[in-house]
Amino acid sequence: MPTSSAVVAIDIGGTTLKGAVFNSSGVMVCRRQIGTFSVDDEALPGIQALTRALRNDASAAGAEIEGIGLASPGVIDSSAGQVVYAANLHWEELNLSEIIEAEFRVPVRLEHDARAGAIAEQAAHPEERSRYRNFIFVPIGTGLSGAVVTGGSLVYGARSSAGEFGHMPIVPSGAVCSCGGRGCIEAYASATTVLNRYKMRGGKNATSTPQLVSLLNIDSDAQAVWSELVEALALGLSSLSAVLDPDCIVIGGGLSLAGETLLSPLRLAVAEKLPWRPAPVVLQSALGSDAGLIGAGIVARDRSPGGRSVFAQAAIPKRP
Ligand SMILES: [Zn+2]
Repeated sequence: MPTSSAVVAIDIGGTTLKGAVFNSSGVMVCRRQIGTFSVDDEALPGIQALTRALRNDASAAGAEIEGIGLASPGVIDSSAGQVVYAANLHWEELNLSEIIEAEFRVPVRLEHDARAGAIAEQAAHPEERSRYRNFIFVPIGTGLSGAVVTGGSLVYGARSSAGEFGHMPIVPSGAVCSCGGRGCIEAYASATTVLNRYKMRGGKNATSTPQLVSLLNIDSDAQAVWSELVEALALGLSSLSAVLDPDCIVIGGGLSLAGETLLSPLRLAVAEKLPWRPAPVVLQSALGSDAGLIGAGIVARDRSPGGRSVFAQAAIPKRP
């Protein structure tokens, strides 16, 4: 018989599905990861299979699932539980919460992945609550997204699509972007595009961003595409800062693991573009590439700010 309650969290990425079970204290008790399209070449059967496996993990540990949180890229209507549009997942008007609820018979909460990450970042810093009342969270991985918090509240916009920072045009008639536009930030500044641009220049020595970073002192092609990435991010972040006046900017996702190699030049470039005002503090995410996953756990567990802080604090130091 189950003796405790738990939630399942899934972070739906363009390449991988990350899943975890969080216990009632917010501690991540197990995690699993599978390829996004590893089941029947579609994302939805993979999400269902991963959720079943995590429910079984929880059951084996004596816990019963009381809720499921999903973090998804794309245009997300979180109040309706619908993925309005997610190009990389081939989804349009998919009632994802309803589908998962029908099988698992527990409440399902759906949130945009960057907004889920921002919820986790905010919750992870209860001692710095004032700083995280006005901030921008930018996860950089396969793609580049964003979430804006002003006055302590997430900005959703008229169509739930606020924060698509990756598709802010910064170079007139610039590089072609996956969205169909040209010159978007994402065309220069995601893990995918920076590697593609490196290859287009003839670079042959890096197939991952950690490899690219390791070459920065010896490979002029790596240096060139990294500089373009920093400049693209700085243009976008300084523009957002001019409009929104954030206290801080938090860089998350897999690329944030580059640490000061990314953040030091980025801070300088942002400050250069804002000579008339103090630049916002640019920080590395405390949650690494797990912010979306932890955020999904938080929205599944507890939507009250107090409960979120307890949850995120537990999740940070005890990640396996
Ligand atoms: Zn674009």
